[in-house]
Amino acid sequence: MMSVPYLLSRHLLCPLHERVLGRRTFARLRQIEREQWRSPVEVRLLQMRRLRSLLRHAVQHVPFYASRYRPASSVGRDGEPERLNLRALPTLSKQDIRAHADELIWPESPGRLRPYSTGGSSGDPLHFFIDRPRQASDAAARILTHRWFGVDAGRRELFLWGCPIELTRTDRLRAWRDGLFNHRLLSAFDLSRERMREYAEVFRRFRPRCLFGYPSTLSRWAEHLMTHEAAMPTGDLRAVFVTGEVCDPVQRRTLERCFRVPVADGYGSREAGFIAHQCPAGSMHVIASEVFVEVMDGDRPAREGEFGEIVVTHLHALGMPFIRYRTGDFGRLLPGRCPCGRGWPRMDAVQGRRTDGIHLPDGRFMHGLAVIYVLRETPGVEQFQVRQTSDFALEVRVVTSDGAASDVLGRIESGLRRVVGDQVPVRVRRTPTIERAASGKHRPVLSDVESGGARPGQSSHRAPRPAVAVGADAAFEEVIA
Ligand SMILES: [Zn+2]
Repeated sequence: MMSVPYLLSRHLLCPLHERVLGRRTFARLRQIEREQWRSPVEVRLLQMRRLRSLLRHAVQHVPFYASRYRPASSVGRDGEPERLNLRALPTLSKQDIRAHADELIWPESPGRLRPYSTGGSSGDPLHFFIDRPRQASDAAARILTHRWFGVDAGRRELFLWGCPIELTRTDRLRAWRDGLFNHRLLSAFDLSRERMREYAEVFRRFRPRCLFGYPSTLSRWAEHLMTHEAAMPTGDLRAVFVTGEVCDPVQRRTLERCFRVPVADGYGSREAGFIAHQCPAGSMHVIASEVFVEVMDGDRPAREGEFGEIVVTHLHALGMPFIRYRTGDFGRLLPGRCPCGRGWPRMDAVQGRRTDGIHLPDGRFMHGLAVIYVLRETPGVEQFQVRQTSDFALEVRVVTSDGAASDVLGRIESGLRRVVGDQVPVRVRRTPTIERAASGKHRPVLSDVESGGARPGQSSHRAPRPAVAVGADAAFEEVIA
């Protein structure tokens, strides 16, 4: 198994690769390394400055924003927009992107715009473009957050991710390039016992500095390792990076017990970028040098600490600006500062939960977090799944800890009743385990109710399934698509 010396990869191959592609990733990295330590006030000012120039750029050069924003802007002496109030501007929906993809592009964009898409395997696909500066920004954010845990670019990284069995020529090229970066990809589509044993052997020989994947598949592998393999030498391992779905406390503990290193959660999407990542102190920090995050409750901004839809502006995407993009994910911004000293805001995020929610008989739709938080905050609950049957009833299955209070089920039931009201029957029962699919995301909330009563835009009940990725680089691009 090929493995390139770290220094060669870090200081020659990685920077060379980025330069050949016209991405100033390492310059960006040096800048955000410094900016993360600025005070919250300085961070805010920096964001405002970047937002202002982004908005100015969008109105001047991008037809979609020009026609949409001009009425909201005042015009200066040079005939150019002077003042734009971000909060007064309309948000950007997935439907807007589908309907106006061509007008969302900066026609004179220097360098090539790369086409991307998400959600091909389920729901409606979204097609969009990403330019080099935006790629560099997302890649720099990824390297930075890995470095928080002592994992530099060029260190050996083992991905447990979706990948096809048959490799095409491009895939082989990618695999070869992944080799230069010390990335190694294992398929999360096949987690048979035989395969998981092979992966253990790969782990021993490759000695990765970090692991990367969905918490459900990584923890499944970890369970296998602890049950069927002799003690695993963790060797050089420094961290396990999880992404793409809610990492529940049991999965986190399983990973910590098996690998004996910190587990850190990342949040982002292919279209919106690398949005937030947990630091060693456990806070999920917004990558505030690169993205501006708002939380909306319908059309008004949510208060600090209040849940709502996560709306993202990518500060470096000039080729196809994403301004006030509605992610469909739910979360909240948290008050206060993190003890780690970074000035970047902290948030909670739950991905792709917009369609994983509960329907009420009166036609209202409630996002999954409403019920997830009741369960999360009940002491003694280790794992859970809520399924809404077609008659609106909630079937709740929970795995409880040994020390759970005797009335834990009753507490969950009354907590849920407070949220969903009397119209919805709630049944809670204990279960020894919650089964997980071999691949794909764990869904804490599922509903069998037809989406007739859902809000516009909720066309699909299915959670976004991971599209097929073909290499470690694709895995990153897909980070949570
Ligand atoms: Zn922190």
